[in-house]
Amino acid sequence: MLQYCTLASSSSGNSAYLTDGETKILIDLGISTRAAERELCDLGVEPDSIDAILITHEHGDHVRGLVTWQKKHPHVRICAPKEIGEALAVECEEIPQCEPFLLGSLIVTAFSTPHDTEFSVGYRVEAGGRVVVSMTDLGCVADGIYPYLDGVELLLIEANYDPDRLRYGKYPEPLKRRIASDHGHLSNPDCAECALRAASCGAKTILLGHLSRENNTPRLAYETVHALLTKNGLIPGVDVMLSVAPREGHSDWYTLE
Ligand SMILES: [Zn+2]
Ligand SMILES: [Zn+2]
Repeated sequence: MLQYCTLASSSSGNSAYLTDGETKILIDLGISTRAAERELCDLGVEPDSIDAILITHEHGDHVRGLVTWQKKHPHVRICAPKEIGEALAVECEEIPQCEPFLLGSLIVTAFSTPHDTEFSVGYRVEAGGRVVVSMTDLGCVADGIYPYLDGVELLLIEANYDPDRLRYGKYPEPLKRRIASDHGHLSNPDCAECALRAASCGAKTILLGHLSRENNTPRLAYETVHALLTKNGLIPGVDVMLSVAPREGHSDWYTLE
């Protein structure tokens, strides 16, 4: 059994909660400790019961609450591959890259993602044969990522921007180029391609996350992915559940059992 929900998901802050009923973890803590604690309490999860926090990379929208969390909950294990841990302002436990390791009762694999930082990863988490994959902050879905999606049932994937909104929006040109590059963020159409591939291989839930407030809307992201799935004979709501993770506040519970 795996239970998953996001606590926040946008360019302003990201965090998600995941448990197999035994080990309780967060993936990223890019919102304040207070906000994360509030969301967890609302979900009936005791914040002090969180065993570990997996970090994808050092950008503020993924680590904002870490220092305070570690002070308030000193027993928590903050885990990341070496290069990411070195860039953090907290005590961090080094974890392997690209190979599975045991985090309590969860099997976790950190896989490299192309992003504008020294190093960044997505996470594949398995328990009892159920698989959740979380990947945000990637300029493209490189071929090397697909093996980590094998057997995924729930995929949280970035749908950061609508290409036209970015192109004609008010961001300065260098920033636009950075976001749109292969080491920037994932566009709605690129997200849709990956979502289609995952759903075609059996993923039952696709959650779109890390939307840009400036260059995207939940509706644009949803409709772009919905259109590609439908065009390829997959009916959202029947063959695959498709949702947009809320920017602020927790999502619904997603339970794989
Ligand atoms: Zn980032
Ligand atoms: Zn981010």
